[in-house]
Amino acid sequence: MIGAGHAGLAASSFLTARAIDHVVLERGEVANSWRRERWDSLRLLTPNWQSRLPGHAYDGPDPDGYMTMREVIEFISSFASRSRAPVRTHTAVTSLVRRDDGYAVVTDSTEIRCRCVVIASGACNVPSVPSFSDAIPSSIEQLTPFDYRAPSHLPDGGVLVVGASATGVQLAHEIHASGRPVTVCVGEHVRLPRTYRGRDVLWWMDRAGVWNQRYDEVDDLIRARRLPSPQLVGTPERTTLDLNALTAAGVTLVGRIATVRDGTALFSGGLRNMFALADLKMQRLLDTFDEWASSCGGALDVGPPERFPATRVPESLRLQLDLRRGAIRSIVWATGFRPDYRWLHVPVVDEKGHLRHEGGVVDSPGLYALGLPVLRRRKSTFIHGIEDDARDVIDHLAGYLAR
Ligand SMILES: Cc1cc2nc3c(=O)[nH]c(=O)nc-3n(C[C@H](O)[C@H](O)[C@H](O)COP(=O)(O)OP(=O)(O)OC[C@H]3O[C@@H](n4cnc5c(N)ncnc54)[C@H](O)[C@@H]3O)c2cc1C
Repeated sequence: MIGAGHAGLAASSFLTARAIDHVVLERGEVANSWRRERWDSLRLLTPNWQSRLPGHAYDGPDPDGYMTMREVIEFISSFASRSRAPVRTHTAVTSLVRRDDGYAVVTDSTEIRCRCVVIASGACNVPSVPSFSDAIPSSIEQLTPFDYRAPSHLPDGGVLVVGASATGVQLAHEIHASGRPVTVCVGEHVRLPRTYRGRDVLWWMDRAGVWNQRYDEVDDLIRARRLPSPQLVGTPERTTLDLNALTAAGVTLVGRIATVRDGTALFSGGLRNMFALADLKMQRLLDTFDEWASSCGGALDVGPPERFPATRVPESLRLQLDLRRGAIRSIVWATGFRPDYRWLHVPVVDEKGHLRHEGGVVDSPGLYALGLPVLRRRKSTFIHGIEDDARDVIDHLAGYLAR
């Protein structure tokens, strides 16, 4: 097993249950990504009741709350102890190659031969930053969500946040609240209200069966796997943090950043369409919830259907911004993440850097993956999604070993 995040640990618990000898190799510590790669104020956007791993669930006093990073680390670490996962920390895998009827796993301290390998090294190892970031004037500080910790670490002055997924809207909101003027570049995004008809929107997704949709039932799987994370934040007040909330707070919205030329950032003019599309998709999802609620008859304790105002288009839309004028002092690239497979020397990575796999069964005998977007279900990358995926993948692995 490569990686001791929640995915590797869940798979390890199923291997242990089947008495399959294994080891979990982790370059840092258990829950390393949550310890090293997240900003200070982050809380899960999934509610506590949804934090569940095989045989391990949140059992505190606030099921509708959202865990802080300290609580997530504690939750995953206690799962590792409870399931007695055989984790070797501070052991980075530097190379994986095919050998005879199995694999040679080279780490920074040893080499291990095995018949099967499960890659659970994460889907978000490296922040994705467009190549034209090289053309940004050197007077501007550039950060990714891996470098960013808190607004106080940024220089005073204007901030350009590129991206409006969960990360982008959360960082834009907290940086703006620190007194720095913020402009957000908005591309394709997923709009959601935090609560709907009195319940967390993720409760609706759970109960209406949206999360459980299987990868082989999804119409456009490639697209589903690249979908940005929803505009959600986990706060004690259960606030909605969509673009209207950012506009109301005083944040400026511009279109997707197309490039930087001669020190000027050029933005797409398609903001109106982008908003209309996100509004429409949210509307359809709410319709799905309403249909499901109707099918339950009067059995549900929920409020009446709600509809939300369309996303407000700025009155004057800025199409470019001269970055040499000093109005922007820092840029935060909230443009997503990608996996890092530089150590993987088995020909299973496509030209876009994605693993070739069928529901986690990688295109090489005995090689498996977990924790990737819509790996087997819509919920695959979320903490609560791993149990079903890990069970299925380890079932397949056990069958392979038995043959
Ligand atoms: C900003 C952010 C917020 C998120 N919020 C939520 C949320 O609210 N709720 C939710 O359910 N999900 C959330 N997710 C999604 C998901 O739960 C996390 O990405 C989670 O960390 C994925 O778990 P994982 O085990 O697949 O990967 P990771 O947690 O990334 O674990 C992979 C492990 O592999 C190790 N590793 C990598 N390469 C090597 C190597 N070569 N050798 C040895 N070890 C290696 C890493 O150190 C790491 O510990 C969020 C993700 C991000 C990025």
